[in-house]
Amino acid sequence: MWGPPRTLPPVDLRDSEADAAFRAELRDWLAATLPSLPPPPGRDNWPAKRKFDTDWQRRLFEGGYAGISWPKAYGGREASPSEELVYHEEMTAARAPYVGVNFVGMLHAGPTLIVEGTDEQKKAHLPKILRGEEVWCQGFSEPNAGSDLASLRTRAVRDGDDYIVNGQKIWSSFAQLADVGELLVRTDPDAPRHRGISWLILPMDAPGIEVRPIQTVLGGSEFCEVFFDDVRIPVANRVGDENDGWRVTNVTLSFERGTAFVGELMDARRQAEHLLTMTTDPADRRELGRILAYFDGLWALTKRNVTRAQNSGDPGAGAVVLKLAYSDARDALDDLAMHVLDRAALSIEDVFDVGYFVRERLRTLALPIAAGSSQIQRNIIGERLLGLPKEPRGEPVAS
Ligand SMILES: Cc1cc2nc3c(=O)[nH]c(=O)nc-3n(C[C@H](O)[C@H](O)[C@H](O)COP(=O)(O)OP(=O)(O)OC[C@H]3O[C@@H](n4cnc5c(N)ncnc54)[C@H](O)[C@@H]3O)c2cc1C
Repeated sequence: MWGPPRTLPPVDLRDSEADAAFRAELRDWLAATLPSLPPPPGRDNWPAKRKFDTDWQRRLFEGGYAGISWPKAYGGREASPSEELVYHEEMTAARAPYVGVNFVGMLHAGPTLIVEGTDEQKKAHLPKILRGEEVWCQGFSEPNAGSDLASLRTRAVRDGDDYIVNGQKIWSSFAQLADVGELLVRTDPDAPRHRGISWLILPMDAPGIEVRPIQTVLGGSEFCEVFFDDVRIPVANRVGDENDGWRVTNVTLSFERGTAFVGELMDARRQAEHLLTMTTDPADRRELGRILAYFDGLWALTKRNVTRAQNSGDPGAGAVVLKLAYSDARDALDDLAMHVLDRAALSIEDVFDVGYFVRERLRTLALPIAAGSSQIQRNIIGERLLGLPKEPRGEPVAS
């Protein structure tokens, strides 16, 4: 479970009797629940998307399947690592909805609070995230602080029991819908870059916040710019110590890069199998076989990451490797899909499955950038895992 690091016990990932029982129970629940879901909303109808995704989250909670690995004390199921993997397999096989707008809350803000939050913060937010009552966004990146996140400049100045925040964030996914945000601010401008940052819980309805959606290549506005003009945030909303936000950020990023990709990976495998039914060309099928084998390898790494995250509260280095390798494999899959579709790939609104594959090609162009670009993941692997010389300016870039 979540807690201080300790030696990992061996894990047998074959279904135990308890796993098999859990699988059967979950399958029954999915078979009974999925037919009663309303049709998914249109791609760019964000209020309807919020309603659909949070409604699904509430159903998961009521069924006892929300926060599969989260502590029972906060409404989670506290399932074993192998049960968590069964959960992901069954959800994907049944084509259950994805976490959607609950992505930040469920997959990295919630896990960060579990490890780093105070009791009050956990009680205030974790149950709401699990019940689909609180949507989170992430306010880390700034126009001049993406890969080099530690150079962020959004400033928080202490004023009694509040911080007063001024500055700008960019690429904040779902900020236009969110109730709460993970916010990184500079609390000590004179300290070395990594030592003057704090991690705050941001109420998105605080006066002085302006959210401006950004249009993407898909035509929708999945992410936003967020501007702060004298925004007051209680000091009690700080997670971790003042100026210790960089350490907390790395906890958040390890979840964002590691276990957060499980659903993506399962979906990609399904997409590859689907593509296999659309081509008889031996060269295409050979390439698809190679990509599928790669996804199988990544699924094995996912098992390791999930086990590690549950045992030590941190998926560890496997998270960085998974994020990088998945981005590469997914790129290869989507390129191959465009090759198989040939001229049909020129149309995004075409009949049958074409539109789906084209939209996925466009959406996944962002994978090697989001949550830290592939070049940055390579730098981290080189410097921190392989012990290669650091970048010339002497400090690794962490996001
Ligand atoms: C779909 C999507 C969703 C996102 N959601 C959020 C969100 O919710 N909240 C949030 O805060 N941010 C979000 N981001 C932002 C994301 O974290 C940044 O885009 C990412 O960290 C890269 O930063 P940048 O865009 O400023 O690129 P830059 O840092 O300007 O990088 C530009 C290029 O230079 C390369 N590069 C930079 N530094 C180095 C180096 N030291 N060595 C080698 N190459 C280097 C990069 O790899 C990249 O190819 C999202 C991004 C995307 C695409």
